[in-house]
Amino acid sequence: MTSTNEIRRSFLEYFGSHGHDVVQSAPLVPYNDPTLMFTNAGMVPFKNVFTGLETRATPRATSSQKCVRAGGKHNDLDNVGYTARHHTFFEMLGNFSFGDYFKEQAITHAWTLLTREWGLPKDKLLATVYHTDDEAFELWKKIAGLPEDRIIRIATKDNFWAMGDDGPCGPCSEIFFDHGDHIWGGPPGSPEEDGDRFIEIWNLVFMQFEQTAGEITGSLPKPSIDTGMGLERIAAVLQGEHDNYDTDTFKALIAASESLTSVKAEGEQRASHRVIADHLRSTSFLLADGVLPSNEGRGYVLRRIMRRAMRHAHLLGAKDPLMHRLVPALVAEMGAAYPELGRAQPLIEETLLREEVQFRRTLSNGIKLLDEATAALGEGDALPGETAFKLYDTYGFPYDLTEDALRARGIAVDREGFDAAMAQQKAAARAAWKGSGQAADSEVWFDIAERVGATEFTGYTATTGEAQV
Ligand code: ATP
Ligand code: MG
Ligand code: MG
Ligand code: MG
Repeated sequence: MTSTNEIRRSFLEYFGSHGHDVVQSAPLVPYNDPTLMFTNAGMVPFKNVFTGLETRATPRATSSQKCVRAGGKHNDLDNVGYTARHHTFFEMLGNFSFGDYFKEQAITHAWTLLTREWGLPKDKLLATVYHTDDEAFELWKKIAGLPEDRIIRIATKDNFWAMGDDGPCGPCSEIFFDHGDHIWGGPPGSPEEDGDRFIEIWNLVFMQFEQTAGEITGSLPKPSIDTGMGLERIAAVLQGEHDNYDTDTFKALIAASESLTSVKAEGEQRASHRVIADHLRSTSFLLADGVLPSNEGRGYVLRRIMRRAMRHAHLLGAKDPLMHRLVPALVAEMGAAYPELGRAQPLIEETLLREEVQFRRTLSNGIKLLDEATAALGEGDALPGETAFKLYDTYGFPYDLTEDALRARGIAVDREGFDAAMAQQKAAARAAWKGSGQAADSEVWFDIAERVGATEFTGYTATTGEAQV
C-alpha cells in the first residue's frame, strides 16, 4: 500500500522533475490577504503572482498546501462525519503555471500522473468541462482518449472560476473517480450528483480571461494554470478505499481514538470518531500556525471546531479530556511532513486540555437543557432560537454545535430567533461599552465578518468578489 506520505512525495517529485519549483506549504493564516479567514486552496499563496503583482524566478510551482474550510459560505464543517470526502483540514496538492504552459500541458500532466505514474484505470475516470469550453473537451478526447460520454459539460459556476469581480478568471475541468459499487449518488451533472459514488479528485483551472466588475473584458495575454487535488481523496483511491476516513492517516487517528475511549468506530459511534479525527487535525494545525481559541474571528472558528469534537468525545462516553491525548498519534503520522506540528506539540496539548476542561464544566448541563428542550420535538421540528442562544451564552455551545447535536434526530434550529437574541445582547453590550475610549478592532472585524456572511475564499467556485471577503 502506498502511504499518504509517499503519495504527497510522489506528486511533488513528479512536478519537480517537470520544471516546477517545489514550494513549502504556506501557513493557514494567509499572509497576503487579511480578508481571508484561512488558506483554503493551493493557489492562495500565489494570488499576487497570478495577478502580476509579484513575479517568481520560475514560472512553474508545485506544493502540498494546508487548507481549512470551516467557515464562510462554502463551509465543509457540516459535511464532516457524514460524507466520505470532506474534511475541515486537508492538503491540496497543486501544480501552477504562471503564464507558462496552458490547457494542453495541464491536462497531459494530470492524465500522465494519474494513469501512467500511479496506474489508475482509465475507465474509472471522468472529466467535466465548462459547457462552452470546446477546447478542453477536445483535449480530453485527444490526450486521454476519453469517450464523449465521459467528458461532461457543466454549465454551472462549479466549472467557472474567478478570483473576484476583477482579475483573472476562466473555465475549470474537474476529474472524477468512479468508486463503482458505492452507489450513493449519480454522475456529475445529474440531480443527485452530490453523492459519493463519483468523487471529485482533481480540479484544473484554466485562467484565460480578464474580468472587470464581474464582466469578462478580454483574454489574458499569458494564460495561467492552477490545479488542486485533495491528498486524502487521491490517497483513498490509491489505497483501494472508497472513503477518505479509511486511508492510513485516518485509520491511525481513529484507532487512537478507539483505544483511548474503548469504543469501536461502528454504528452510531462511527461519525463521532470521524469528527474527532478530522477536528484533531484542523485544531492542531491551526494552533501550530498561531491561531488561539477566542470568542471572535479566527479564534472563534477554532474554538467551535474544538468544542464540536469535545462534544463527540463526551458522546463516546469519555470521562476525561480526550483531544490532547490524541496529539501524539497525529504527530506520528504527519510530524515528518510538517515539523511545525512537533515544535508546537506542547502548546497544542496544553491548549486542547485547557479548553476541554473548561468546556466540560458546562457541557453536561448544556446537554441536559438541550434534552429537556427537545424532549417533545421530533423530525421536522425546530428548536427555538432563544434556547439555542441560551446554550451558546450560558453553556458555551456554538450555534453549529447545537445544530450538529440535533441533526441525527432531524430537528432544525431557528436561526432567525438565535440571531435576534444575539443582536439584542450585542446592542446591550455595545451600550455598556460606549465611552471606554478603546478601539475594539477585533470586534469590528467580527461584526463585518458576520454582516458579509463570508470570510472565506470559496475555492474554485467563487465567481464574485464578495465571496472572497
Ligand atoms: P467538492 O465539490 O467535492 O466539495 P470542491 O469542488 O469544492 O470539492 P475545489 O475547491 O475544487 O473542491 O478544491 C480542489 C480539490 O480539493 C478538490 O478536487 C478535492 O479533491 C479537494 N477538496 C476540496 N474540498 C475538500 C474537503 N473539504 N476535504 C477534502 N478535500 C477537499
Ligand atoms: Mg466543496
Ligand atoms: Mg466540486
Ligand atoms: Mg472543484
